[in-house]
Amino acid sequence: MAAKHHQILIVGGGAAGITVAARLRKTEHDIPLDIAIVDPADSHYYQAAFTLVGGGAYDLEDTRRNEADLIPQDVTWVKDAVSTFAPDSNSVSLTDGTTITYDYLVVCPGLQINWSGIPGLKEYVGRYGVCSNYSANTVEYTFEVLKNLKPGARALFTQAPMPIKCPGAPQKIVYLAADHLTKRGIRTHCDVRFLTATPAIFGVPFYAKELVKVAARYNVPVSYNHNLVEIDGRKQKATFAVTAGDQQGQTVTLDFDMLHVTPPQSAPDFVKTSPLANTTGFVDVHANSLQHLKYKNVFSLGDAAGTANSKTAAAVRKQAPVVVRNLRHLLRKEAVEEGYDGYGACPLTTAYGKVLMAEFIYGGKPTPTLPLDPRKERYVNWWIKTTGLPMLYWDYMLKGREAFPSHNTAYVDPAA
Ligand SMILES: Cc1cc2nc3c(=O)[nH]c(=O)nc-3n(C[C@H](O)[C@H](O)[C@H](O)COP(=O)(O)OP(=O)(O)OC[C@H]3O[C@@H](n4cnc5c(N)ncnc54)[C@H](O)[C@@H]3O)c2cc1C
Repeated sequence: MAAKHHQILIVGGGAAGITVAARLRKTEHDIPLDIAIVDPADSHYYQAAFTLVGGGAYDLEDTRRNEADLIPQDVTWVKDAVSTFAPDSNSVSLTDGTTITYDYLVVCPGLQINWSGIPGLKEYVGRYGVCSNYSANTVEYTFEVLKNLKPGARALFTQAPMPIKCPGAPQKIVYLAADHLTKRGIRTHCDVRFLTATPAIFGVPFYAKELVKVAARYNVPVSYNHNLVEIDGRKQKATFAVTAGDQQGQTVTLDFDMLHVTPPQSAPDFVKTSPLANTTGFVDVHANSLQHLKYKNVFSLGDAAGTANSKTAAAVRKQAPVVVRNLRHLLRKEAVEEGYDGYGACPLTTAYGKVLMAEFIYGGKPTPTLPLDPRKERYVNWWIKTTGLPMLYWDYMLKGREAFPSHNTAYVDPAA
């Protein structure tokens, strides 16, 4: 069977794939393009709202659209999964055995969630109080468990080692849960704990200092270097390996009524084992141009890219224009630009009605969009999180439109 060919082939039609395809379509005035997206999924989720769904503040159905309705006009949708990459022959193969060749490849299949990475997780998630905001199938159960907690309940929230989607998400649900219990008048009668495999509460010290105070305000003890390694759902026991500090090498087993799990995540296996991967398994691209370091007709963005930014849809919003401009540079035989500065954003839901908007670039430099002290929890940020950003995602990003100038300036603390 002769291989199919597309000029630009996009692997993954999530936040990144749809945004790139839509922007390419919007900017093709001079050179018409033949674009295809490979993605097997029927549904596309705005995953950034999963925290709100888990907190009972957003409907799951409002996070979902049919993938078919998001594929831009005149972009071919290949409804299958890529199984291997052969960049030396500019081709990919699909699970049905088809080969597709390309002139340019954009790799954005997201992160792989390793549900089998913790014994007991796959078996018990969705039962016995074991919940997770990290999948559309399990996120609604989080609020079901939360709203049924009784005085005396023990609620544990975990964070897996990096890399994970939206590194702030594991603690966002802690604060919503603590606030929910406070509003029900039973917070002081419940034991709420946050156990993270990381050595700090957040990777950017500027924001971490504030988040430590938020956890303390809710009387939530934070255990660092505690990695969830086993779940016994029936007995409602969770075991953690301590990876640093006085108890290093030991395990700690805790009882729970609610266990919110951030599952271990990695680059997708088919990326990890391909010639496109770096040593960590992610696509080996330049941090600023997002061009592959060896295969110059290959780009990657979003969660699958081997860049040091926070893996967020916010990052995709800033990466996609760079990838699109660079594809057009290559089509015109021009040099690529290094326009991506590592921007990522984490709207930390610190209470119902309050968000600390953590925006930053490579090196952990804070770069707020609004000219306000970004360390403060604000109602306006809650509005942005619950209303503004979903609008920005569906009506602007995924349609290839610019909502406002994509420029963030470094924050200078007036008190410093
Ligand atoms: C609980 C949670 C909270 C979050 N909170 C935020 C937040 O507050 N702010 C924020 O900006 N971001 C947040 N995110 C992260 C955000 O959703 C991701 O960073 C973003 O979706 C990444 O886009 P992507 O296109 O790289 O991957 P995805 O959007 O995950 O899309 C990947 C696509 O690739 C497809 N695919 C997978 N394998 C293959 C294959 N073999 N072949 C072809 N296609 C394939 C999938 O079907 C999918 O459509 C959160 C995520 C979660 C789970």
